[in-house]
Amino acid sequence: MIANNLHHIHEEIAVAARKSGRDPAEIKLVAVSKRFPVEKIIEACEAGQFLFGENYIQEVVQKKPQLPQDGRIHFIGNLQSNKAKIAAELCDMVETVDRVKLGLALNKHCATLGKTLEVLVQVNIGDDPHKSGVGREQTASLIHQLHELSHLKVCGLMTIPPLTNTPEESRLYFRNLRLLAEELGTEGLFNNIDAPELSMGMSGDFHVAIEEGATIIRVGTAIFGQRPA
Ligand SMILES: *Cc1c(COP(=O)(O)O)cnc(C)c1O
Repeated sequence: MIANNLHHIHEEIAVAARKSGRDPAEIKLVAVSKRFPVEKIIEACEAGQFLFGENYIQEVVQKKPQLPQDGRIHFIGNLQSNKAKIAAELCDMVETVDRVKLGLALNKHCATLGKTLEVLVQVNIGDDPHKSGVGREQTASLIHQLHELSHLKVCGLMTIPPLTNTPEESRLYFRNLRLLAEELGTEGLFNNIDAPELSMGMSGDFHVAIEEGATIIRVGTAIFGQRPA
């Protein structure tokens, strides 16, 4: 089932990429495995999917040692600074840095580990009171501060737009995130100046996100099915 779903999603990625004149190979699929048992992750690995997204630190602690060698985890949940040590150690990217305090904590632990961690800045692009993320107006200032932290690589932006009824309603949010990244990119604030990462789009709307420039999509239910409560 998971193998089939992955196959289908890769086809949809290719369609959306072609529609917007992009190379499907430049789009990374993060399989969001939160609340699913590690057996499902192993099944996905057997189907060739090695990049996963997790929201809860205790699940990262439990699952990471059971992943195959190539298994990688992006942290995509709210991260408390007192859990930064574990994230720094076990995750390949933290997509949800939205305040300097968290950046400082991650940087400190990465320095101890002798490691450089890739991070994204989570932007609350729709000013949704129910969503975390730095406000659009504060993003440049946060990135300037994170830029000083030598063990972090600020690779781009991530967003979770407000809940909408149709995927099309997310388009403007995705577009606005891309425009913001382009604006900040010209200031040379991202690790890869030419192509900042844009993590946006989930099961219901990743095709729209790709059309608007997503380089990372985070897809859970469309791969693993309904999440256990
Ligand atoms: C759960 C989650 C996803 C995946 O959502 P689906 O609708 O299951 O694809 C993506 N991003 C974040 C931040 C999430 O918490």
